[in-house]
Amino acid sequence: MISERAHHSLLKRKIVHIDMDCFYAAVEARDNPRLKGLPVVVGGQPNSRGVVATCSYEARKFGVKSAMACSHAKKLCPTAIFVSPNFKKYKLVSSQIRSIFQRYTNKIEPLSLDEAYLDVTGHKLYATKIAQNICSSIFEELKLTASAGVAPNKLIAKIASDINKPNGITIVRPHEAASFMAPLSLRKINGIGPVTEKKLSNLGLVRCKDVLEKDEVFLVKNLGKRLTYWLLERCQGIDNRDVESTRTRKSLSCEDTFLNDLIDKNQINFELCRLASKVSSSLQKNQLTGRTITLKVKYFNFTQVTRSRTITQPSSCPELIANVCIDLASKTEIGKKPVRLLGVGMSSFEEVKETQELIF
Ligand SMILES: [Mg+2]
Repeated sequence: MISERAHHSLLKRKIVHIDMDCFYAAVEARDNPRLKGLPVVVGGQPNSRGVVATCSYEARKFGVKSAMACSHAKKLCPTAIFVSPNFKKYKLVSSQIRSIFQRYTNKIEPLSLDEAYLDVTGHKLYATKIAQNICSSIFEELKLTASAGVAPNKLIAKIASDINKPNGITIVRPHEAASFMAPLSLRKINGIGPVTEKKLSNLGLVRCKDVLEKDEVFLVKNLGKRLTYWLLERCQGIDNRDVESTRTRKSLSCEDTFLNDLIDKNQINFELCRLASKVSSSLQKNQLTGRTITLKVKYFNFTQVTRSRTITQPSSCPELIANVCIDLASKTEIGKKPVRLLGVGMSSFEEVKETQELIF
């Protein structure tokens, strides 16, 4: 069933995905040797309502995970040491890492402070060699470890960097793409969240190969054309998305599909504020401000509308983005029709000028 001949799109790019290992916790342990080898939790205090931002591998052994309530983390790992995050420091280290990347390419797309895609197509060195050099430089110069995925596209590079974590590199060559994807859980595909995962598993689709083995007519009937063709490509390891460096990026957005459709206006406003603050922090991380705010609404019956407004002064302010979205919501059928998905986006960027160095 699965061809070992590479699809033509897999011969176009060489992508490296670099992901720092337990980034915040690793920086803390590096700068405070008393924390070395101990279960370190970076985030809120154990008696607060805060959550875990990152934790060391020693803490992970106890079942502690990112986004978990700190009180729960304390229960799982009573000996854990709780450290408050120092984002100023993490941003500085992040820009140091970025300058290592820039020795090889300017096509860098940060996903967060500790993760980025690099397009190294056309570089005279092998992509694998570049990944090895970057990981060694990070270790030698910054005393931190990173993991890397080397692949023909972003989809596979990101999945691959997770495989030999920590401090490991995974290489997937073009002809291996399809067989690499086949046994993977669909949840590994970037873009498939818990809601879609559940919907797919109800149809007996759990792994990538399940999708490829199903009849296309069945898929289209149950999933619609758009999702079907997108999924068929991803399950074969095909992904034509470009690496979008901050300078070339045109818009930035966050969206969420809800487990239960929303109808209550207060709850919808709450979700809009939450999405606005996520968009705002991504903008700030990338030192961007924007002028056009877009609200996207998908109703229970999958019909979708967007509403936009352009403001006079470029901004990244979370309250401003939220207020505009709440106002735009009044121009939709929010509150009347159940809402399945909400999205908040910002475009028409201006780069923040006072500093040349972009945060990765
Ligand atoms: Mg990481």
